Amino acid sequence: MISDDAKAHLHKQLVKLGDMMGDGLHHESDGKWIKAEYRRTLKALGLLPKAKRNIAGIDAAMAKRVSEVNCQKCGGQLKQTRSGSKRAQCQCGAKYQLLK
Ligand SMILES: [Zn+2]
Repeated sequence: MISDDAKAHLHKQLVKLGDMMGDGLHHESDGKWIKAEYRRTLKALGLLPKAKRNIAGIDAAMAKRVSEVNCQKCGGQLKQTRSGSKRAQCQCGAKYQLLK
């Protein structure tokens, strides 16, 4: 954990770097550090998105859900739209969100 002071400082830093990127400074040849620093600051604040979703877990949960649920329009068998997806589709084209 980081202190509130450090957090406030990082937030200020983030705004400053964001402004610089808004001006396009990170596209300059000597401005690469800005983007790197921006990411580092985001990470320090815990704002970077989690690296990877648990696809195997989602697929397993979806396999269970599609075996329990049938299409509400035609009663057909649902199929997960693609690996890692929380949605399933029926042959008739109906789509369902099966996991939250
Ligand atoms: Zn259907």
